[in-house]
Amino acid sequence: MQTQNLGYPRIGSQRELKKACESYWAGATGYKNVLQVGKNIRRENWELQKNLGVDVIPSNDFSFYDQVLDHSLMFGAIPKRYNQVVVKEGNNELDLYFAMARGYQKEGLDVIAMEMTKWFDTNYHYLVPEFYKNQPFKLFSTKVIDEFYEAKQLGIVTKPVLIGPVSYLLLGKEKEAGFEKIDLIKNLLPVYLEILTRLKSLGATYIQFDEPFLVLDLSEKEKSAYQTVYQQIKKAFPELKIILATYFGGLEDHTDLTCSLPVDVLHVDLVRSPEQLAEVMAKISKEKILSLGIIDGRNIWKNDFEKSLSTINTAIEDLGKDRVWIAPSCSLLHSPVDLEHEKNEEVLTLEIKQWLAFAKQKIAELSTLKQLANHEDLTSAKEKFVQNKLAQQSRKTAPLIHNAAVKSRIESINEGDAARSSIFEERRQKQQEALKLPAFATTTIGSFPQTPEVRSWRAKLKKGSFNQAQYDQLIAIETEKAVRWQEEIGLDVLVHGEFERNDMVEYFGEQLSGFTFTQNGWVQSYGSRCVKPPIIYGDVKRPEAMTVKWTSYAQSLTSKHMKGMLTGPVTILQWSFVRNDQPRSATCMQIALAIRDEVVDLEKAGIKIIQIDEPAIREGLPLRKAQWKDYLHWAVKAFRISASAVMDETQIHTHMCYSEFNDIIDSIAAMDADVITIETSRSQMELLHAFANFNYPNEIGPGVYDIHSPRVPNQEEMVHLLKKAATVIPKEQLWVNPDCGLKTRGWDETKKALIEMVEAAKTMRNN
Ligand code: GLN
Ligand code: ZN
Repeated sequence: MQTQNLGYPRIGSQRELKKACESYWAGATGYKNVLQVGKNIRRENWELQKNLGVDVIPSNDFSFYDQVLDHSLMFGAIPKRYNQVVVKEGNNELDLYFAMARGYQKEGLDVIAMEMTKWFDTNYHYLVPEFYKNQPFKLFSTKVIDEFYEAKQLGIVTKPVLIGPVSYLLLGKEKEAGFEKIDLIKNLLPVYLEILTRLKSLGATYIQFDEPFLVLDLSEKEKSAYQTVYQQIKKAFPELKIILATYFGGLEDHTDLTCSLPVDVLHVDLVRSPEQLAEVMAKISKEKILSLGIIDGRNIWKNDFEKSLSTINTAIEDLGKDRVWIAPSCSLLHSPVDLEHEKNEEVLTLEIKQWLAFAKQKIAELSTLKQLANHEDLTSAKEKFVQNKLAQQSRKTAPLIHNAAVKSRIESINEGDAARSSIFEERRQKQQEALKLPAFATTTIGSFPQTPEVRSWRAKLKKGSFNQAQYDQLIAIETEKAVRWQEEIGLDVLVHGEFERNDMVEYFGEQLSGFTFTQNGWVQSYGSRCVKPPIIYGDVKRPEAMTVKWTSYAQSLTSKHMKGMLTGPVTILQWSFVRNDQPRSATCMQIALAIRDEVVDLEKAGIKIIQIDEPAIREGLPLRKAQWKDYLHWAVKAFRISASAVMDETQIHTHMCYSEFNDIIDSIAAMDADVITIETSRSQMELLHAFANFNYPNEIGPGVYDIHSPRVPNQEEMVHLLKKAATVIPKEQLWVNPDCGLKTRGWDETKKALIEMVEAAKTMRNN
């Protein structure tokens, strides 16, 4: 029995990649530095996996920004608008690549970035490939080949990882009418074959094709594409060993199809879908190896060795030990890097730490499981087994985890707790009277720039070089400046700026019981942006108000409305590492009650508009349609529980971003927020059609400019987008706001953009 890994985190154990990229973008360091940092990380990762005994080690799992974008560049699927970037003197391939990722606004050029969306049901974002009619593909970047060679030079023969051709096409978007993306397979496949030829000639034996779409619903055409593609690959390269990796769910109705594909190794996710094992074992043909994804690549809990060994033994009995591999369930991209970097026991107590495993520890677990299953090196492996068992037991019984009061409050929730007192039309009238807002009311999504200075204050507070009073004073000044500036440019609904918050989930988690944190548990979210998800280990409770102090302070500075800013229960759940000892829905309800109490406290403090952000509601959707209903039911209920305890006059906003809404629009409407602000500008208001077609009754703020790019939009383009919006949504229903929070932007671009935005709203009012 062998071990394989599907992918290792590439940000570096101290986020070296983030620092290198950001310094390159800022012009502070050169091209060579970024390349060198990338090289160091790859080497470190390969050597680590080798030293920890992984048999089949991945390459091309590294990326400077995003692996899907890597593939687009590799296949020359470069939208025409980037031609201008390429011809600029001094620009190299990496500059083109970053322009596609982030947009390019320099030396008179103004090119927008590619669209970004969430990677399946994770909080990782990828850049959506853009496809045109008769889209040509050619081998443009040789990254996968270069990285294989690079590892080989270090003495490590790796397994190059590619997104499979079908999944790559399905990840993309048709940018014009008249064709189906899956039909592009005939143009694309030759490039894959060319890559395989080159990899083979360099000595590659195993190639991993990631085909996560095999766990999703597929059309007949897509299913038959799977057959043709893998048959052609096998025919062209009978001697290459093809690993087909599926993850994030079970094969279900595609089990026959998948088991019939002519590949050498089939990887299945047994963490998300343990029940698929029996059927897959029954259907997989005799010459194939089955790779058991038994270590959770998406969560931080220690593997349960006893359970895993029983799964492994079942598979070995059935298939024989040569036909069984073990692996993490999916790429470890979604895990933090190394638990050994958690040294501060005040942040992460030893009691909780003993229950956890990050990427590096997961790789070690993999090797121990192999030793135990193969009966190798038994003394040390057996000792690890005993330790593992003790840790599992202590977690099951720890008093730290269970709170009777929380459990009984959950049981007493009734239907009425999940509904506002009046229907939207009635609330709307009362709100109009109470709030007196103009048409095309302007607002922002909540955060203002988190400058290095603001972040340095928090760092100083943590280190103890600032006391709480000093820190609070600086935050107060920053908040006041933001309030004054918003008044000055004439925004209608103000925000306090969220300067006191490190992150929209962590900030709340830090104040709730049942949550704990790490110092270095970073996970890539998009590009150089990493998040440090809290760990929900126990029952959730709100010991005291979390946001009232800063919101009331900001409100006291102005006669305009100050919007209270909260993160919703589904998003807190979705962006945390969640306990795996009770259903997600149960944890979500506990969080919903905590947010509900906060909403009530804000209202009591005189706040009339409260936003409960739920950017993650879409990404929480199960990948299979059949399971949507159940999820949407409890997710919407959790939101409504958090939002419904206020008076009709109090206006509840919600915010969502980077989501397709078409298929869940009825649930979004069922959330019954008085106002929803959404990301729409990157898709040129396309997303709004879902709301228009549904006759979405409540108010909407379609984002009029993209905040994920440093590019400053002008008034005309925002007016253009608003006019476009007004053709599909009655103008009385429209708000004017950016796509998302502004925390990642600088003040200069933020100010310029918002001044333009306020002007755009005025233009609309005068129309
Ligand atoms: N209120 C949050 C902010 O502005 C919302 C962020 C988000 O949607 N991801 O930062
Ligand atoms: Zn957002």
